[in-house]
Amino acid sequence: MTTPFYVTTPLYYPNAQPHIGSTYTTAIADTLTRYHRAAGEEVFFVTGTDEHGEKMLEAAREAGLEPKAFVDGMAERFSSTWKQLGFEYDRFIRTTDADHVRAVQHLWQTIYDRGDVEFREYTGRYCVGCEAYLTDRELVDGQCAQHLTEPEERSESNYFFKMTSYFDDWVEHLESHPELVTPTRYRNEALALMKGGVLGDLCITRPVERLTWGIPAPWDDDYVLYVWTDALVNYVTATGYPEAGWEERWSGVHHLIGKDILKPHAVFWPTILRAAGLPLFQGLHVHGHWNVENQKISKSLGNLVDPHVMDEKYGFEGFRYYLLRDMSFGTDTGFSESGVVRRINDDLANDLGNLLNRSVSMTGRYFDGVVPEASEPGELAEVATRVAADVDRHVREFSTQRALTALWELVSAGNKYVDAQAPWKLAKEPEQRRELERVLYDVLESLRITAVLLAPFLPGTAARILGSLGDPPTAATLAEATRWGGLPAGTSTQVIPALFPRIDTD
Ligand SMILES: [Zn+2]
Repeated sequence: MTTPFYVTTPLYYPNAQPHIGSTYTTAIADTLTRYHRAAGEEVFFVTGTDEHGEKMLEAAREAGLEPKAFVDGMAERFSSTWKQLGFEYDRFIRTTDADHVRAVQHLWQTIYDRGDVEFREYTGRYCVGCEAYLTDRELVDGQCAQHLTEPEERSESNYFFKMTSYFDDWVEHLESHPELVTPTRYRNEALALMKGGVLGDLCITRPVERLTWGIPAPWDDDYVLYVWTDALVNYVTATGYPEAGWEERWSGVHHLIGKDILKPHAVFWPTILRAAGLPLFQGLHVHGHWNVENQKISKSLGNLVDPHVMDEKYGFEGFRYYLLRDMSFGTDTGFSESGVVRRINDDLANDLGNLLNRSVSMTGRYFDGVVPEASEPGELAEVATRVAADVDRHVREFSTQRALTALWELVSAGNKYVDAQAPWKLAKEPEQRRELERVLYDVLESLRITAVLLAPFLPGTAARILGSLGDPPTAATLAEATRWGGLPAGTSTQVIPALFPRIDTD
């Protein structure tokens, strides 16, 4: 039995709407899931909402609702958006779900029983935005570096997880297993947080006299668990933890996150897993931020980029292509609507759409729409084989950008091939009939393989291409489906409306 591929997005904090950042993370997870499933692997894709904590309670109050009614509405907004955009997750987990509450209490009781939780009197500087106490070394000019606000001094008695006692072990392990946190710069950031004495032990509770909206600490009714110590556990909850058999799914887990939540994922989470005696994740993959006109996306700036609006204006797959194609995984990228339009016009309408349209049109004109006989595999077959291997490698390295760049080498090779072979000239010479068959077969077959490889990225577009090619038989695995020669001669093709109509930019 091979290791299943289990991918998670962060649980989105539903005091804001779905925006470009959460749409991007979820689109990558959806693409990876579809790819691994097509490759014949067992897959599991989990997303959801993080519903507890002080900020959520405030947002509910502002909306004039009870917290549960408020988060019910917000969770629905996220799940219905993802469904509308075509994301095929296996579970939408909510931190208010009963099985999650059980898993969280079980895990923290385990850590408590092992002696890694301590009750302490504490005075510290508390950032409401972070919902956390910050150490001196985390402050920049007395302010939280992320929220640019001055933390308030608070005095409380709370439970602490002796997180720092796990740092040496995790640092050593991460240094010898660099693949656990990618790209490299984020591994280095995580190591710096632990080596420099920047972080202290983790305060894992809040007194109920101050906050009741949380999961009760199982060993003390006067406390609820801190929102991060609750939310991170969802990744194991979704495997069925602590019921028997949960480890199998967990053995293939990869987390996808944005760089703003590196600390909880690269420091809190692995040390929590260690303390609870659970195996580590297989990979933590960190992407950069989308900046709109060079500002970080934020609710207050009103520059969220609503995926519904993008869907209405451009069709979601055009926007999805832009997201997956334009951001180099790990680095920040500027978002612009003109960038979306350019990708749709250049890559999708021109390169891909035209290749399909002219190939199928010529098949109609010269062969009554029927796929001609194949010859020996030629230059396009070679490109297709190389591209399929490249796409596979890049997808497994979480780089959708490199994968799509590689795939477009096949599209562009197809266009160059048609231009160079000039079927319209061959068609004028009856003795070139066999040559004309060879050329058109090769380009149609390259389009079939393009569609098979494109399907995880743009499922609707790929289905339309395959429909235009007469819905050739599908294969059980991606390796078989991308083998040259899968398009049977005699298949009836049909010209379809433009895959992506050009968007007028005047
Ligand atoms: Zn903060």
